[in-house]
Amino acid sequence: MTPPPAPTMAAHSNAVHGGRRQHVLLFPLPYQGHINPMFRLAGLLHAHGFAITVLHTQFNAPDPARHPDYRFVPVPVPDGSPVPVAIEDVVAQILELGVACEAAFRDRLASVLDEYSRDAVACLVADTHLLPIFEVAARLSVPTLALRTGSAACCACLLAYPMLFEKSYLPVQESQRDMPVTELPPYRVRIGEDDGGLRLVRELISRAMPAVKTSSGLILNTFDSLERRELEGLRRGLAVPVFDIGPLHKLSPAVESSLLLPDRSCLEWLDAFPPESVLYVSFGSVACMSPRDLVETAWGIAGSGVPFLWVVRPGMVNGSADDHRFPEGFEAATRERGKVVAWAPQEEALRHRAVGGFWTHCGWNSTAESVCEGVPMLCRPSFGDQMGNARYVEHVWRVGLEVGGDLERGRVEAAIRRLMTDEDGAETRARAGEVKKAAAKCTGEAGSSRLAFDKLITHMMSL
Ligand code: UDP
Repeated sequence: MTPPPAPTMAAHSNAVHGGRRQHVLLFPLPYQGHINPMFRLAGLLHAHGFAITVLHTQFNAPDPARHPDYRFVPVPVPDGSPVPVAIEDVVAQILELGVACEAAFRDRLASVLDEYSRDAVACLVADTHLLPIFEVAARLSVPTLALRTGSAACCACLLAYPMLFEKSYLPVQESQRDMPVTELPPYRVRIGEDDGGLRLVRELISRAMPAVKTSSGLILNTFDSLERRELEGLRRGLAVPVFDIGPLHKLSPAVESSLLLPDRSCLEWLDAFPPESVLYVSFGSVACMSPRDLVETAWGIAGSGVPFLWVVRPGMVNGSADDHRFPEGFEAATRERGKVVAWAPQEEALRHRAVGGFWTHCGWNSTAESVCEGVPMLCRPSFGDQMGNARYVEHVWRVGLEVGGDLERGRVEAAIRRLMTDEDGAETRARAGEVKKAAAKCTGEAGSSRLAFDKLITHMMSL
């Protein structure tokens, strides 16, 4: 198979080191929370003079027109895949994706290497969820770097899996519910609801560390002052170097990598509200909610009296592709102070002076974006690393409060008031302001993330 033609040399004219190691190849996992940091990294590397080649699946494929300076090489997956909606389908699809595109990836990578010459390729950066991609690259002697799009704490937890089994924290047992994991503070034992989904999640995470260990280095979208202890632990536990170059969206030039079209009218709508008065509500790109939870959340938000901007994406309710329905009377009751959009320009919304709180599912990108803007959070994690992120947000960084238990309108209303108007909220907001300053320091001139990026470049050139 022959990849599409490369862009003219003019597009590569800023390439580093006179052609040697001028190309970086990237393979993102095709989900929004993974695509965003990978494209931010691409932006950083490109700004540094590297030519960027993105190998990608056709599922959730990037739009080459948005990145005219990059080259795109599709890797076809046999038979295509249906668009998954429920989380267990998403995890099953991720597991299948790596395996399904292995042969085609091998082909495409071999063609790209033939064309560029081996010496011109610095490395391949791939998402740690794609273990087969790392194995193929190793067989073709292409050095790899692993991008983990979650926190260092989450990565440390994966690294500790053997210990968690050895000490009987895993598999989880009802008798251990909420027990602290003393070896891995502040984690505690959480009982998941869905066994089938959990089995797949376990399978998926069991491949993440082998991918890191196969690579020549680990890139993390986090920063030193937020996760110093966890980063130190990782450095002790891993034989490969760790590069904490986050938050990438603050370090890298802006990129447009949204799979859904953001409704920018919400930014203008926000202009009408006083500073820090609006609650931004979003559960990311994958998490779903039941129709019952939608109703309770809606009435809780309405009852709080707090202005809100709420992202309800197509298919978010009940994991179905059907349109959601708000309870009768909700829209009329909140028309003056509420706006619902299908997808928001989230980074800009969080940066808007009117936004004073974020009700979030605690996906790592959303958490990092909120931290960077000093917006305190109400955490309602749904699955996977979101649970641990929420734990850190509330108990370690103290920049948010978790909303636990069944979603019930009275509880939602009270949680929103607590964050937006009560004393608790004021303290959390003050902490969020401090952490925002620490993030700005790390990404600023001579900050730890910038220095880590310089080290990453040196490392890439030495592979
Ligand atoms: N996002 C967005 N608009 C929205 C909701 C989310 O641009 O309306 C972006 C958000 O800024 C983040 C990503 O989608 O970068 C979601 O990633 P995250 O890790 O927070 O959650 P996931 O979707 O992976 O669960």
